Amino acid sequence: MKKGALIFEGNEKQVFATDHPDKVIFRYKDVTVAYNNVKRARFIGKGALNNQISAILLDYLNRNGVETHFISLLSDQEQLCRKIEIIPLQVVVHNRIAGSLAYRLGVPEGFRHANTIVDLRYNNDDLDDPIINRDHAVALGLATYQELDGMYDCARRVNSLLKPFFHQAGIELVDMKIEFGRASDTGALIISDEISPDTCRLWDEATGERMDKDRFRLDLSRVVESYSNVLKRLKQVTEQ
Ligand code: 5GP
Repeated sequence: MKKGALIFEGNEKQVFATDHPDKVIFRYKDVTVAYNNVKRARFIGKGALNNQISAILLDYLNRNGVETHFISLLSDQEQLCRKIEIIPLQVVVHNRIAGSLAYRLGVPEGFRHANTIVDLRYNNDDLDDPIINRDHAVALGLATYQELDGMYDCARRVNSLLKPFFHQAGIELVDMKIEFGRASDTGALIISDEISPDTCRLWDEATGERMDKDRFRLDLSRVVESYSNVLKRLKQVTEQ
């Protein structure tokens, strides 16, 4: 696969065209940002870790009947993906209340609830990714009701697959953000972007220690070491 021009540059990723019209190359950068780009740092090795972690998780979903954009790993920091039309929505699944949801609902971080909570956000930095509902999303022309039903169902299915998968690695999946796109070849709604410690809250089941981007957000140090531990444990599960 021949790497072509840079077609998108985000804070944490670059997307390159290829010589195939429906395939792109994702390059995971070592940059980390938080709080809507207010906080920024570079962690050598983070891009390679997230590339590999995301590859394991997206490949696991592909093999379990959830269509994602992931095709194959290409190198340390690059993966080959299906081209999509971006849908600027974030679907956030919560198994425990933490982060901004704890603040918004006025409950302590780590609050346990019996149900699964699914939130919808408008992916818009200028507005600080506000929580919206289905009617807002349709009114803005971001997705149809049918697509939104598909996204909610898919997000719950992803959660029901990844929660036990992480559990096998001794990691609790506290919450995660998922994004979707329309595949350029078939138009199907598929999971796009990454699923990694940058987009999930992952707590060590034995110690409660955070193994995700909160280490950076909250200045807890050992960011790369924690991501590396996540990768090591997921590899052990897949190699079983
Ligand atoms: P919170 O609302 O507490 O910021 O985030 C809830 C979950 O979704 C966390 O796992 C967080 O990492 C993820 N998340 C929410 N918004 C974003 C975002 O804009 N970028 C990234 N990388 N993750 C997000």
